[in-house]
Amino acid sequence: MSKYFPVIGLEIHCQLATETKLFCDCKVEVNTLANKNVCEGCLGMPGALPVPNKKAVEYAIRLGLALNCEIDSKAMWARKNYFYPDLPSGYQVTQIGLIPELDHPIAKKGWIEIELDDGKTKRVGITRIHMEEDAGKLVHDLSPEGSHFDANRCGTPLCEIVTEPDIRSPQEAVLVLQKIKQILEYTGVSNANMENGNMRCDGNISIRPSEDAPFGVRSEIKNLNSFSNLEKALETEILYQSIALDAKQPLEQCTKRYDVVKNKTVVIRSKEDALDYKYFPEPNTARLITDPKCIEEIRNTLPELPDARRKRFIDSFDITAYDAHVLTIEKEVSEWFDEAATKCKNPKILANWIISELLREVKDLDGGLSSVKMTPIDLANLVNLIEDKTISGKIAKTVFAEMLETGKTPDTIIQEKGLVQISDPVAIEAMVREVIAANQVQFEEFKSGKASIKGFFVGQIMRASGGKANPGIVNQILDKIAKE
Ligand SMILES: [Zn+2]
Repeated sequence: MSKYFPVIGLEIHCQLATETKLFCDCKVEVNTLANKNVCEGCLGMPGALPVPNKKAVEYAIRLGLALNCEIDSKAMWARKNYFYPDLPSGYQVTQIGLIPELDHPIAKKGWIEIELDDGKTKRVGITRIHMEEDAGKLVHDLSPEGSHFDANRCGTPLCEIVTEPDIRSPQEAVLVLQKIKQILEYTGVSNANMENGNMRCDGNISIRPSEDAPFGVRSEIKNLNSFSNLEKALETEILYQSIALDAKQPLEQCTKRYDVVKNKTVVIRSKEDALDYKYFPEPNTARLITDPKCIEEIRNTLPELPDARRKRFIDSFDITAYDAHVLTIEKEVSEWFDEAATKCKNPKILANWIISELLREVKDLDGGLSSVKMTPIDLANLVNLIEDKTISGKIAKTVFAEMLETGKTPDTIIQEKGLVQISDPVAIEAMVREVIAANQVQFEEFKSGKASIKGFFVGQIMRASGGKANPGIVNQILDKIAKE
């Protein structure tokens, strides 16, 4: 571990889940024919006028409110000029102004909370959220014609979320990214799928010799597309900067990328050749004036957010903080548990089944939890059957496996396979005596006080009953006979 103290801030880009693009009616569609969804507007042809997408603005406001931001009801659009082969217009419309009078992003001054390992929570500031349009895509597929340009992504709406430099370790950075991803999913603002590229993260990082020293020289690591890459890239950069400072080598402010294969950060450009984007107010669109009433309407339709849901799960279902955390990471899982828990006699046990059995199975499935044949109510009923002592925990595992495979209800499976637990003391005593008769020597040892041999008898009796004997009653009867 480095002796230096890291200071980290994140910039997170997410694609908004709208049906159409930010300034035209072209469809937002992935995996379709190249250049299918384009028009004069998103191709940047002279004379085409942009019309902001109302839904995209609503989503950005919803996100701002969910991240506890102030919403700017007079947001502005700016033009960021640069040449890039996948940007036909030669500029990107965004919400950055270089002087305060012109800098009006849709939202600013917010915060989120992350839960640290020691059980404490930490607040991390959100500096701003601004809307912008995405560029197209170059496809380098090594075909004889060379590279191709696909403009389908041109003009797709994005939000960039910038955090304050409040993060103090790569692990905290991962927690911040996880929390923001969760909020994007819960609010429905973005699919926030990092593998598909509709969410990506840049990390700004510097180190300093003590926690109250001024910030050091920072590097910006671009386009980190997974939690593990974010963590590894920041760790690698901390190591790189620590070695430089130890050797008294001055660091230079620069932009880097992370080479996954070499586990190394590589300079893309230094401060000297930092790009000058010549921002100016976008002349083709008016200010984005939002009626404060609309903002309040959006606030009123905000769904239950992950922190609130986690707290409710702990309070109403009496599950542990850890279980509540795991069950709320993904919105879909939290909804599944919520539905099942309201019908379950023991939500604590239900939480265990979901976390240690169901989620383990789901991990290997393509469609995730929605592709599971078992319904939440059926799993709740399975737990209820264990609670009623209709079946043992062991039999429940067999039933669970069958439920996953066939989608049948637990009652049907138990009836079909005759798996109801045997709790009749007379029937159990007969089985116990039979097993004792076959293992006289061991039984004498047990009687003379060798307690460790009890497990052997319980195992034999459970086997003899096909796993159906009630283990509590088996234990009681064994003790009773030993005292005879
Ligand atoms: Zn278009």
